[in-house]
Amino acid sequence: MTLLTQNSKIKATSKLLGVKLFNFGIPAYKSASGKLTCPMAKECIKFCYARKGAYKWSNVQPAFEKRYQLSKTAGFIDAMHTEIKRKKATHIRVHDSGDFYSREYMLKWFKIAEMNPDVRFYSYTNMIAMVKNIKHLIPKNYDFIFSDSGKQVDQIDKSKDRHTKIFKSEQDLLAEGYSNSSKVDLYATKWFTPLNKKVGLIIH
Ligand code: SF4
Repeated sequence: MTLLTQNSKIKATSKLLGVKLFNFGIPAYKSASGKLTCPMAKECIKFCYARKGAYKWSNVQPAFEKRYQLSKTAGFIDAMHTEIKRKKATHIRVHDSGDFYSREYMLKWFKIAEMNPDVRFYSYTNMIAMVKNIKHLIPKNYDFIFSDSGKQVDQIDKSKDRHTKIFKSEQDLLAEGYSNSSKVDLYATKWFTPLNKKVGLIIH
């Protein structure tokens, strides 16, 4: 099973920045059996790109499901570690689809990041409380960007936390002091925009 893939934005980002960026995805919002894979999703469910288009193609959906099932097992850590080495990844976006459905699952990713200290990991997430509760355990090579469209949006401190905001135009985005990460995904992270934690995305 291929665990790391490249969607078009990730591919374009890799090319532009000369890095080997891959994404990992599980089903958006709910698994095939109805288990929540994005427990704190709210507004985003309406515009979730991972619930439409290419993500819904017949061969794509079962792959997401298989990755989700694997992520629940103890063997996930070693399987992902092997895949990272095989692909020679330098950067990994955890979840182009889905979110951290449990604390145990999040801790598995921390372990994977610790096993691969030269690789940089990042996630957009609606699991604000979960991340804040285990802040002390986040590896240095892991970055979180809080999404502003989930159930815990009130827990985001916009003056301190790296967070997203969606805009209709680049003009509006820049006027509010956000950095534009619409086309280059890594611009959302602390490694590329260390001084600006305001991550702007333009809706399309
Ligand atoms: S958290 Fe992400 S993947 Fe899940 S429903 Fe919201 S936009 Fe979609």
